[in-house]
Amino acid sequence: MSGLHDIIVKRVAAEGPMPLSEYMGLCLSHPEHGYYTTRDPLGTAGDFITAPETSQMFGELIGLTLAQAWMEQGTPERFTLAELGPGRGTLMADILRATRAVSGFHAAMSVHLVETSPALRAVQAETLGREGVVWHKSVEALPDAPLYLVANEFFDALPIRQVERAEGELWRERCVGMQDGRLTLGLSDATPLPALQHRLEDTRPGDVVEFSSPAQAIAATIGAKIKLRGGTALIVDYGDWRSLGDTFQALQAHEPVDPFDTPGTADLTAHVDFEALARAAPTAHSRLTPQGVLLERLGITQRAQALAKRLSGDTLSQHIAAHRRLTHPQEMGTLFKAMALYPEGAALPPGFEA
Ligand code: SAH
Repeated sequence: MSGLHDIIVKRVAAEGPMPLSEYMGLCLSHPEHGYYTTRDPLGTAGDFITAPETSQMFGELIGLTLAQAWMEQGTPERFTLAELGPGRGTLMADILRATRAVSGFHAAMSVHLVETSPALRAVQAETLGREGVVWHKSVEALPDAPLYLVANEFFDALPIRQVERAEGELWRERCVGMQDGRLTLGLSDATPLPALQHRLEDTRPGDVVEFSSPAQAIAATIGAKIKLRGGTALIVDYGDWRSLGDTFQALQAHEPVDPFDTPGTADLTAHVDFEALARAAPTAHSRLTPQGVLLERLGITQRAQALAKRLSGDTLSQHIAAHRRLTHPQEMGTLFKAMALYPEGAALPPGFEA
């Protein structure tokens, strides 16, 4: 058993069952044994592949969307270009390359990455260089300046709590405890949860709702900065407008595994509740848009055709497969959604609807 397994078992023995959020936080970010602390989980050799790792077209279109928003907000002279959870730095590299030709954009920007994983910070420095790139542990530390930000598959990695609707207006929390020598989920006593007051109408006993206080706090901070100084945040992730049902999952080598088996060795995620992010951010927000629809509106097919002219054989087949993977409803096109946060009264970023 892993070191983290023993740490968690001891804690449960001493303090009783822990909320799923605490378990998820330990598994992903424990300073010594955490999943993200110790490894680069991305790519074919890793546990999952993200949109920017699938094709350069994703980052190019995201970059041009941010640049367009910057222009429509009057080309502020100094601004922050930020990414949350940049993985290998591929998305930021594609954004930077695609925006090089946008007059004044690079001269006005400073690049900031919010990343907690030392292992991935090192990979990002390899991809992007250290020159002109600033790393932060939290969004609070981002400068007070207009903020143009992207977060792709970041919010799904933040710890969630899971509760089950009980009788009346009460909820029971799913907590990680021990049974027959194994870590397993159990239910707490029923308590009221004022934070889920708005979910009393659309849930019934037995329904599961997930929520993430860290995700909401981050959306609130980003939104406050955009409200104060302007900017735009593009949030892309798998999820829905409103959380309903158990979406907690563990992936290892691209296959689902038991999330309680070997803590710290699998990628743990949950679908993002975009409504909760929109409610937390004191800005305007776009309608939730399927990734495939957004990318088509932004011109991915034209870009794919232009790139295809230079390709043949295997690289051409891979390119066609990547286009399909990003946009097709049976691949990432519908499961993944995008939402933009932008200042009240400012123009909607391209590709989005109010
Ligand atoms: N955006 C990248 C990587 C997604 S993986 C891509 O699309 O390829 C999730 C990323 O979020 C990793 O870089 C991980 O280290 C980072 N991360 C996870 N939890 C975090 C937290 N609480 N604060 C900052 N970064 C975090």
